[in-house]
Amino acid sequence: MSRPQSRAGREAAFMKEAKRMYEQLEEWYDKHPQASFGEIEAEARKRRRELMGKALAQLVNGRDVGAQVEAPQCEKCGEGMEFEGYRKWGIHGLEGDSELERAYYVCPNCKGETVFPPGSETEVTSRSLE
Ligand SMILES: [Zn+2]
Repeated sequence: MSRPQSRAGREAAFMKEAKRMYEQLEEWYDKHPQASFGEIEAEARKRRRELMGKALAQLVNGRDVGAQVEAPQCEKCGEGMEFEGYRKWGIHGLEGDSELERAYYVCPNCKGETVFPPGSETEVTSRSLE
């Protein structure tokens, strides 16, 4: 989904999601023309949570997912580790549920040696919410 991107790229991805959410609300209202303001709000609230979850994932994942230009070295044998892929993990936030991504590397020699280099999301999740 979101790899490190420019700020403009992150913004464009968010705007696309926001536009989609608005279009869905338009479609919903077309089908429910008699809806009260409270019902419209309830519909918007559901979609807001989804949108915010995606927006925050975009904000965090789009900056830094721990992928490095130089592969990290294995702590056991010193060999350069190989990029394996991105692992996803979910966060249930106050504003929405976000799926964050983390790059990980494995050692070609040592079975089971895996490294997740820290990225901005590590900092984000270790900060306390006050
Ligand atoms: Zn190794």
